[in-house]
Amino acid sequence: MERETHEEMLEIVECKQCHKPEYYGMMIWRDGKQMCRGCWCELRQKEARQRPAPTNYIFPRYEDGHDYSAEVRVIEFEGSQYEVLDSTVDHYVCPPMHANEGYHLITKYKAKIIERKMPDNVKT
Ligand SMILES: [Zn+2]
Repeated sequence: MERETHEEMLEIVECKQCHKPEYYGMMIWRDGKQMCRGCWCELRQKEARQRPAPTNYIFPRYEDGHDYSAEVRVIEFEGSQYEVLDSTVDHYVCPPMHANEGYHLITKYKAKIIERKMPDNVKT
């Protein structure tokens, strides 16, 4: 079996429980259900009355505390490629492709990442 690359772990997917975005590599399996770190923290608080530690990052921060969702350069959505100008917690902000269009807000987990600007300290 091939090991997943860091790039694949940084893919943004939708949490089936709360429908918020999460990194593929940070999804947690618990009792047969897959959930994001946000859902996991909530569950822990309910069950053990434990507050998340400052190091318990949730999306958009990865486990090293870095926000990789801000490093995306080019995405594909419904067959078209878009350049990413900026991003919010769950959307990419892309400039208009034609004169009569406005800015595009594209939901992160619905877009496929084509090109990423990787920080120097990440091994791929
Ligand atoms: Zn969730």
